[in-house]
Amino acid sequence: MAATGEKKLVRSHSGLRMVCMNANDTSPFTLPEPQWIPDADMGFCMNRNCQAKFDFMKRRHHCRRCGKVYCNTCCDKKLPLPRMCFVDPVRHCNNCYENTFKENEFYDKHLKTLLTGGQFLMLDQDENSDNSESFLCKLSNNHRLLQVVTTDIDTQDEEGNKMGTGIALRYKDNYEDSQTVKMEVIDGSNKKQGMTWVAAMQKAFKMIYESRTSSSSP
Ligand SMILES: [Zn+2]
Ligand SMILES: [Zn+2]
Repeated sequence: MAATGEKKLVRSHSGLRMVCMNANDTSPFTLPEPQWIPDADMGFCMNRNCQAKFDFMKRRHHCRRCGKVYCNTCCDKKLPLPRMCFVDPVRHCNNCYENTFKENEFYDKHLKTLLTGGQFLMLDQDENSDNSESFLCKLSNNHRLLQVVTTDIDTQDEEGNKMGTGIALRYKDNYEDSQTVKMEVIDGSNKKQGMTWVAAMQKAFKMIYESRTSSSSP
């Protein structure tokens, strides 16, 4: 059994990929590689506005994200594709280019925010309770867990008791029971970091949700 977090380099027909040795470490943001449409099945570029005929001058190229066959003109843009763990930038068709471009913004910006973490207050069931504890919440390095580090911040002198921006996370505990945690961003110097963290978390869920709904309709 591979140690936690260990990765290995694998070569697929699409290129070199760095993948986790242990499937349990695979990030939930990861997309599976698409099935490649066989060369022999396609005489024409699959871009409806192009449909160039392939011959020994016009070569076939596969988009690494959708696996469809295109001519060079319709599939010549290369982008990093971290969701499929490619080491180098890979070929994209015009459609897929836009999706990956947006997602790479998530990887460059919001994922860093999630890994750095934000300061929150745990919202107690009992609203009048004074012992709400503040904590740092961050995404684990394999993106699969939320790590919580409690810190001692005095929250006694809060009188107005305004509801701030927060996030409710529903999860299954070790006994497969549904649990909900409600967290509130702490007012003060760390507020911006907490708000940014919540926004990044929402982007993460949206990205996963959107690729699930789009992959079910070919
Ligand atoms: Zn594509
Ligand atoms: Zn084409």
